[in-house]
Amino acid sequence: MMKKFMDRFRKKGRQDVRMWHEHPMKPAYDAVIVGGGLHGLAAAYYLGRDHGMTDVAVIERRYIGYGGSGRNTSIVRSNQRSKENIPLYDEGLKLWPELIGELDFNLMFFNCGNLNLAHSEAEAAGLKMTVATAQIMGVRSEFLNARECKELVPHLDITHRPRYPIYGGMYHPPGGTVRHDAVVWALARGADRLGIHIHQLTEVEDILVEKGKVTGVKTDKGTIRTPLVLNAAGGYSPTVSTMVGIDLPVTVLPLQALVSEPLKPFLHHVVSSGRYHAYASQSLKGEIVTGAHMDPWPSYTTHVTAHYMKHQAEALMDLMPCLRGARFMRIWGGLTDMTPDMAPIVSDSPIGGFYLDCGWGYFGFKSAPITGRYMARWIATGNCPEILKPFSLRRYRNYNLQRETAAVMYYTPWN
Ligand SMILES: Cc1cc2nc3c(=O)[nH]c(=O)nc-3n(C[C@H](O)[C@H](O)[C@H](O)COP(=O)(O)OP(=O)(O)OC[C@H]3O[C@@H](n4cnc5c(N)ncnc54)[C@H](O)[C@@H]3O)c2cc1C
Repeated sequence: MMKKFMDRFRKKGRQDVRMWHEHPMKPAYDAVIVGGGLHGLAAAYYLGRDHGMTDVAVIERRYIGYGGSGRNTSIVRSNQRSKENIPLYDEGLKLWPELIGELDFNLMFFNCGNLNLAHSEAEAAGLKMTVATAQIMGVRSEFLNARECKELVPHLDITHRPRYPIYGGMYHPPGGTVRHDAVVWALARGADRLGIHIHQLTEVEDILVEKGKVTGVKTDKGTIRTPLVLNAAGGYSPTVSTMVGIDLPVTVLPLQALVSEPLKPFLHHVVSSGRYHAYASQSLKGEIVTGAHMDPWPSYTTHVTAHYMKHQAEALMDLMPCLRGARFMRIWGGLTDMTPDMAPIVSDSPIGGFYLDCGWGYFGFKSAPITGRYMARWIATGNCPEILKPFSLRRYRNYNLQRETAAVMYYTPWN
């Protein structure tokens, strides 16, 4: 149908304006990427751009951006808690302006800054440690008292009225938001222009292994021979890993988000509160984009719940009473692939040619392009870039877990 339409279109001498193209699936590729989310697309793009590896297929069982990549709340920042994590996120944050030019796509990067609120002395002490780590690592971050928070975000209620009064906050000026769909489309177009094949509506059903090495993938549209497979399947990364006999320490938890009706601009920063399990920013269109913590039970459902809407409305009204009466317009859910130490798994594996880029939980949007760039280097050269070494799967076997749990809003089966 699409082909007929395009043939007619071309006959009329019109330009092919499609963002990416459909190709017949080849029987063999140099590399296959499972998952057409941002991590898979970024790795594909950089394999082509930096290493001339264009005989690559991205296999996506639904449509590109179907997973967390098209469902996130688009927050970017680099004030992570641990010194192992900060360099990757910091490079990732600095990459956005470069990508906008290079991909020739308006990604709507808005570095409005992030304010993380503390509601007790203990929380303030925790945030001050995060600020200190950031500053040591050269990342802009500072601790503000309640009055300074109010100067930054005038609509915050810093009285004693809210259930959890505001004690202070960690302000991170370089953070902000980027339009997630635009990043998906731009990377897909970039990869497509380099000759990489994107196969949507195609599911990887099995991964073929011989003598401890990957030899191919079995899809619902046929088998592909390949010596290299990257598991970038987001919430389904544990399922894909079990195809080669690897059990990932990943628990999949649903996460929901909401968008309000458009309001006049009043919120010029991303505001989050671990205690309320809520965060909010205002999109350029005026909507309040808000998210919370994950559901506390593992599940693959992307259903939404009344409980969440109520929680979110109460939290936002407590933090910013001016939102009372604002209407929510849209709500959706996505999957988060959570690791026990809240840090990702970007790793090789005991199976030759099988790589992992997953475990990104609810923080994998901001890191996608930069991780793709380094992952591509690893796949193409066989050498693990220094910056990725802390994220090896082996850290779980060696009891060398990271300390990111101290920095994030979390509620998981482990605590
Ligand atoms: C509500 C919500 C809010 C979030 N907010 C933020 C935020 O503000 N900032 C931030 O940094 N992160 C955020 N995240 C997290 C972020 O969205 C994810 O970490 C990130 O999108 C993961 O990207 P990915 O490419 O690894 O996975 P995904 O985008 O999930 O892509 C994986 C793809 O693999 C496909 N797939 C799965 N199995 C197969 C198979 N067998 N064969 C073929 N294809 C397969 C899926 O269909 C999917 O499209 C949020 C997530 C959610 C759900």
